[in-house]
Amino acid sequence: MAALPHLTGFTREELAALLGELGEPRYRADQVFQGLHGRRLMSFDEMTDLPKALREKLNASATASTLTIESKYTSTDGTRRFLMRTADGNPVEAVFIPTENRDTICFSSQSGCALNCDFCLTAKLGLLRNLTAGEIIEQIVLVLNDVYGVGGETPHGTNLVAMGEGEPFMNFKNLIKALDIMADEKGLFIVPGRTTVSTAGVVPKIHEFAALARRPNLAISLSAANDELRNKLMPINQRWPIDELLAAAKAFEKTLKRGERFTFEYVLLGGVNDSDEHAEELAGLLRKHDLRKVKINLIPHNPAEQLEYRPSSPEQVLRFKEILEQNGVSAYVRTPRGRDIYAACGQLAAKQEPNLVQIAGR
Ligand code: SF4
Repeated sequence: MAALPHLTGFTREELAALLGELGEPRYRADQVFQGLHGRRLMSFDEMTDLPKALREKLNASATASTLTIESKYTSTDGTRRFLMRTADGNPVEAVFIPTENRDTICFSSQSGCALNCDFCLTAKLGLLRNLTAGEIIEQIVLVLNDVYGVGGETPHGTNLVAMGEGEPFMNFKNLIKALDIMADEKGLFIVPGRTTVSTAGVVPKIHEFAALARRPNLAISLSAANDELRNKLMPINQRWPIDELLAAAKAFEKTLKRGERFTFEYVLLGGVNDSDEHAEELAGLLRKHDLRKVKINLIPHNPAEQLEYRPSSPEQVLRFKEILEQNGVSAYVRTPRGRDIYAACGQLAAKQEPNLVQIAGR
C-alpha cells in the first residue's frame, strides 16, 4: 500500500491545494499548517479547531507523523541524542545541544551517508535513503516537543545545523524545502540566519546554494589542505578536488553581504592533519584563494572503536589555532558535546548501547 502523504512536508500553498481538493476553504490549510508547525501537533485528532468531519477526512487521506523515537540518550553535559525510525525502518538521528543562551538542534538530511569520510562513524552505515522534507522537519518537532512539551514555548530560540546523518547537498531539494517550511512565520519560524548547512564539498550545489534568495549559513568540511591527504580522509575530494572546492567557496564568498561570514570545518586528527606544517599549509591555501570572510572551526576528533584515528593533544589543538591566527585567519575550537552518548560530530551511527544512559522512549 502506498504511504499516505505526510503533510508536515507540505508548504502552505500545497496544503491549500490539497484541502481545496477535499472541498475545504483556504483558511483550513492555514489552520492545519499552524497545527503541525506552530502548535507542533502530531495528529489531526488533536486539531480540535477543525470540524470532526475534516479530521476524519484527513485521517483517511494523509498523515501528520511518520517518525517514531526508538531511544533517547542523555549526556552528562545535557546533550540529548534521539534515535528515530522512519515508517519503513531506517534510522534517523537528531541531537539537542543546550547552551546557556540558545539551543541548537543538529538534524539528519539522509538516513546513513554515501560519502565514506574516513573519520566518521555515520559512513559505516552507508546510504540507506534520502529523507523527505516532512521527515527532516518532524525531527525538529519531535525534539522540541520532547524538551519543552507539545507546543511548549522555546525559551532560547532554536538554531539548526544540518550536520547529522548524511550529506545535506545530496538531498538538496528536500532539504531546502524543509528549511523554507521551517522558516515560515506561521510555523516553527526558524529563519535562515539561525540555520547552518554543512557540506563535505558537493561543488555544483555550493553554486546553487549561493544563488538562493533566502539562504542559511554555509559550512564546508575541509579537514585537509592538500589533495593527497583529503582524498584519503574525504573521498568526495577525488570528484571535486581542493582547488575546485575553494573556487566554489570563493564564488560563494562574493555573494556574502557586509559582516557575513562562512565556515570551514577542520576535524583535527592526531598525527594525521594537525601538525604545525598542516596549519601553515591551510593558511597558505586560504591566501592562495583569497578567502577573507571565512572562519575555521577546529573540531577535535571524536574517537570511536571502529575508527583508526585519535584526537590531537589539547596543546596541539591550541598550537594549530595560534598558527592560523598568526596568519590572520579567525579560528575557533569547538568543544565536543555528547561524546559519551555517541552524539558528537561524526559519531552518529544509530548506536544503541545498553551501557549508555537511556531515558524512556516514546
Ligand atoms: S562526515 Fe558527513 S559527509 Fe562525511 S561520511 Fe560523515 S555524515 Fe557523510
